[in-house]
Amino acid sequence: MNFEVARKKMVQEQIIARGVTAPRVIDAMLRIPRHIFVQEAMAAQAYSDTALPIGEKQTISQPYMVALMTELLGLTGTERVLEIGTGSGYQTAILATLAERVFTAERIRPLALRARKCLDSLRCFNVMLRINDSEGSPIGWEDEAPFDAILVTAGAPDVPHVLLDQLAIGGCLVIPVGDEVEQKLLKIVKQADGSLETISSVGCRFVPLIGRQGWQMDRF
Ligand code: SAM
Repeated sequence: MNFEVARKKMVQEQIIARGVTAPRVIDAMLRIPRHIFVQEAMAAQAYSDTALPIGEKQTISQPYMVALMTELLGLTGTERVLEIGTGSGYQTAILATLAERVFTAERIRPLALRARKCLDSLRCFNVMLRINDSEGSPIGWEDEAPFDAILVTAGAPDVPHVLLDQLAIGGCLVIPVGDEVEQKLLKIVKQADGSLETISSVGCRFVPLIGRQGWQMDRF
């Protein structure tokens, strides 16, 4: 299989055709190989229009959703970005090509370790990865706050206040919010006076954000 051809087709048919056109985002989606972030047996499906299982009951997000969430962040290259939910590391790699530094947190150790290997193989050395696997770990990365952009790649019942506190003035938080089955993608911008502007984007389906300001682990 020619992965480069498959990737170009993915970008044209799944991403540009659905209205994601920011040139830097398109360039990153063309450059980052999605097939290295899935299990070898699934490499042939890596450029299909869907989320895929990555083990531990988790998924690598649909390419369109990765592109849309990245576009909503409006990164210019100077930002410090926090990502909650590293998963496979694919979205992390896209962020790493578009921002100055990426801080990514994952609660499932084997996924985090595999993601780190993939990120290192692509020389994404501007990515700091933290494993949040202890019971009751707070969501976010307080020591490194504030962040210019925060991306949550798991569905939350509500917007976690702890993340709004870690957002810089003028910063942007993108997060899926809803119930366990369906969510709305929200973009929240912190204004100069500290107030929040919320824009609602598309409907989506993410695995649950687990934690004190997310869902309780024993529900899943
Ligand atoms: N964007 C990722 C990718 O492309 O591979 C997909 C992420 S997956 C949909 C969501 C991830 O969030 C899962 O790996 C899950 O373990 C993680 N997660 C859920 N709650 C978390 C929390 N409180 N802190 C860190 N990671 C969390």
